[in-house]
Amino acid sequence: MEYTAPSSASGWADAALATRARDIQGRIAKAARSAGRPPTSVTLVSVTKTIPVERILAAAALGLTVFGENRVQEARDKRERLDALAQSDPSVARLMTQTRWELIGHLQTNKAARALNLFDRVQSVDSVRLAEALNARAVALGRALPIMLEVNAGGEASKSGFAPHEVESAARVIATLPALRIEGLMTVAPIVPEPEQARPIFRRLRELRDFLRAAIPLGEQHWRELSMGMSDDFEIAIEEGATLVRIGRGLFGERPAPQQAPEAPLA
Ligand SMILES: *Cc1c(COP(=O)(O)O)cnc(C)c1O
Repeated sequence: MEYTAPSSASGWADAALATRARDIQGRIAKAARSAGRPPTSVTLVSVTKTIPVERILAAAALGLTVFGENRVQEARDKRERLDALAQSDPSVARLMTQTRWELIGHLQTNKAARALNLFDRVQSVDSVRLAEALNARAVALGRALPIMLEVNAGGEASKSGFAPHEVESAARVIATLPALRIEGLMTVAPIVPEPEQARPIFRRLRELRDFLRAAIPLGEQHWRELSMGMSDDFEIAIEEGATLVRIGRGLFGERPAPQQAPEAPLA
């Protein structure tokens, strides 16, 4: 990926972000090459949950173009702010035309319509019911929606996603929905002490994708993508075939801890 010099958007220049972005891009390229793949076969999804719009603009000014958000409401608030900034600043407008937005978090069925207005692709389709809601909305809008199926490849009770054994039957139904295009699979691997321990999960996702591609042939545009790997384990994921890596902390630094519920008063 090329880095374009910040233009008049230099007001958002962020030297630490620039250094981290270069480092991450270099490591992605190296992992791809060592797996015998061209670096362009891996797309960096910059995960901007909790990150304010000024830093998203700094990232966009560095040439980062694909952004991942995990909540509809947060994404909507940010997009409204960015649209407002773009109205008064042509350099923001220019940067925004180059961005793509991907939903990577659980989506409630009743928010399908809002998600369609905000995202270019939904990576986190985790039920047939949600797929049907997205399809109905996309049909109404007369557009196609690229999606991915989220798989709970690690089998953790706390995670959303299809169980690996459910994916085939779900995919057969979803493949019949005219406005959706199943582009691949996505997983959030369990948190493990050593990145190497995530390898079997990534491999399982790739094998599952390969199986589905053969079992449910849909054409060139389908089943291409494997979205797997985050800040701590993306190199292992690339070695196992990731085409999309989703990186937040590795680019933007640690996120603030989630807000705690107020503590119960001491007895
Ligand atoms: C937050 C998040 C990421 C990025 O995680 P980091 O550890 O910050 O790289 C990736 N995928 C999903 C689904 C996330 O919610």
